Amino acid sequence: MAADKIIYGNIYTVDREQPRAAAAAIADGRFVYVGDEAGAKAYIGSGTEVLRYDGGMILPGLGEGHGHVGPGGTEALFTVHLNLFGTLEDHLAAVKEFAEKHPELDVIQGAGFVPTPDMGPDGPTADLLNGVTDKPVVLADMGHHSYWVNHAAMDRLGIDKNTPDVSDGIIVRDAKGNPNGYFREGAMDLLKPLTVFTVEQYKQGFLYYQEEYLAHGETLVLDPIINWDGTDNAAQACHELDVDGKLKMHVYAAYQVFQAEGHDTMAEIEHAAELRERTKGPMFEVSNIKIQLDGGFPGNPSTAYMKEPYTDPWSQEHQHHGQLRLDMETLTAVFKRSHELGFTVHVHAIGDGALAMTLDAIERALAETGPHDYRDAVTHLQVVDKADIPRMAKLGVVAVTDPHWFDKTPEFDPMIVANIGEERAANQLPMKSFFDAGVVVSSASDYPVINPAYPLVGMQKGVIRQLPGRSETLHNPGERVTIEQMIEATTLNEAYQLLCDDRLGSITVGKEADLVVLDQDITTCDPEHIADATVLRTMVGGSWVYIHA
Ligand SMILES: [Zn+2]
Repeated sequence: MAADKIIYGNIYTVDREQPRAAAAAIADGRFVYVGDEAGAKAYIGSGTEVLRYDGGMILPGLGEGHGHVGPGGTEALFTVHLNLFGTLEDHLAAVKEFAEKHPELDVIQGAGFVPTPDMGPDGPTADLLNGVTDKPVVLADMGHHSYWVNHAAMDRLGIDKNTPDVSDGIIVRDAKGNPNGYFREGAMDLLKPLTVFTVEQYKQGFLYYQEEYLAHGETLVLDPIINWDGTDNAAQACHELDVDGKLKMHVYAAYQVFQAEGHDTMAEIEHAAELRERTKGPMFEVSNIKIQLDGGFPGNPSTAYMKEPYTDPWSQEHQHHGQLRLDMETLTAVFKRSHELGFTVHVHAIGDGALAMTLDAIERALAETGPHDYRDAVTHLQVVDKADIPRMAKLGVVAVTDPHWFDKTPEFDPMIVANIGEERAANQLPMKSFFDAGVVVSSASDYPVINPAYPLVGMQKGVIRQLPGRSETLHNPGERVTIEQMIEATTLNEAYQLLCDDRLGSITVGKEADLVVLDQDITTCDPEHIADATVLRTMVGGSWVYIHA
């Protein structure tokens, strides 16, 4: 049989049966031969493209286990970027300039602020945005766990003193009970009507992301909240791109369901199943149900759900553990119904309390439905009780870790220590412990929380757990993993997480031909230079989708 393409080089297959190879042959989009050079000769025909890459490295296509492509892509194209470490003045100037430059926009959206002392004791307020623009302004914080909005935004939506509180979030109010312009967690939902993008805008956003990340070797991604703005527009956009043959990356999506006022959790799962059938195609599928079980930290108050209370004075006084957005009964029902409909469940759990509760819910659901290979996943995993790790292994729960977060940021660390105390801060964000316990570990960035979020950067950080050359940023070095573990987490285990390891994730005969060619061997280079490797080519389904100029 003549192959369409044959590649010679240093092939790292991520296939345990045959970890290294010197040649791979590809026909009809799949690997038809993986082995030594001599064996590949039989596949050379008159039309075979033969390429040789000596000195570099060939890996399976790289994956992203939790990247908000839709919101990130549209955010990059249609919103203002706030400087993470900027002052209030910087933010106001940026919003004003952006609003003046974009008279075509009806709402000014932005992201990337951190509440800072210069915003006053009440944190970010609508009053601070007075005079910047007459249009509604909606600004997300760096972690997308709160919105800071102006009076025009609240006026447009009729949000005022009489707007009732929500059970899964916080409407911050002034002394008179008026919403002050800061909406946390579930309260953000109230503003969602102002954050809707059109199908066309999402198409542009996905293509923008795809072009940038194919050039960094990424061929597989989970968009963990495809209904970010409360619409099906992002799913529809992916579907249309897929039908038109423009989706070059494998995009899996999760549909987020809620338990709060105005939501019917079970009906939302049914809707996701209907959306899956309506939009499923060769490169796109709504395959997961997403649960946002808790929030995050640092905050005022923090919202990640912890077994032990936060350590700041207010939290100590109130025995504040954080905030859950679903109760046990609903969470268990979500697992049950999702499993019945063939969905994997993807849970956001930042606090150890949220992880333990997730595992309890899975146990209860499986007691009724019986064990099955569901590949439920928990992500972020910032504070983890070691006692829960073996439970993850036993229940077959995938740990979707965030190596991109594995360094100590001098700007944030004091805030985190104040919130959760020295010990929990020092032990944050494990990875090695999951591998050691036999948990399947994959890798994610939470893009655009991390932006850019290139896979090689994540791999490097998982190995060194600091910024290159900056030892003061070293964080929890006992949880460093090997480059081989990072490669597995970024390739085969991503495919495992997304239930497509039967056809993706390794360079194995019969699997779809997704691969990336690097100019250096990242298993032998100085770990501080893993991220300096250049992607020379990226292949998806046997076609070159990126070639380095
Ligand atoms: Zn996320």
